[in-house]
Amino acid sequence: MNCIFCKIGRGEIPSEKVYEDEDVFIIKDIDPKAEKHYLMIPKHHYKLISDMTDDDAAALMRGLRKLPALADKLGLKNGYRLVINQGDDAGQTVFHLHVHILGGQYLDFPDLKNK
Ligand code: 5GP
Ligand code: ZN
Repeated sequence: MNCIFCKIGRGEIPSEKVYEDEDVFIIKDIDPKAEKHYLMIPKHHYKLISDMTDDDAAALMRGLRKLPALADKLGLKNGYRLVINQGDDAGQTVFHLHVHILGGQYLDFPDLKNK
């Protein structure tokens, strides 16, 4: 399967991996949109929330629940924002579900409808 995140997970494409367990891995985003920008990527490939099985949902939630313990190490102890882009309106570009983890600065929350 020609999926960039599966290839990163297998080590076929280099990445800055900052965390890994049996469910997920966390890498630094290659094109950061905030001072700190990571991606939490489930090891099991699926494209969208609508494709998730109960096992996928449990695995991702186990991964997310590791974040509080990792926050200090990742430079996120002052807070962070989680984003999952789904589909075209959200500008999703990689169709292997992933959670953006943004922080390391105050995060403005823009009023997009007035842009
Ligand atoms: P999406 O737009 O699908 O929500 O997010 C995809 C994210 O993956 C983008 O923020 C993009 O910068 C990141 N990305 C794409 N290719 C690579 C890569 O090869 N390595 C890393 N570390 N991040 C990538
Ligand atoms: Zn994949």
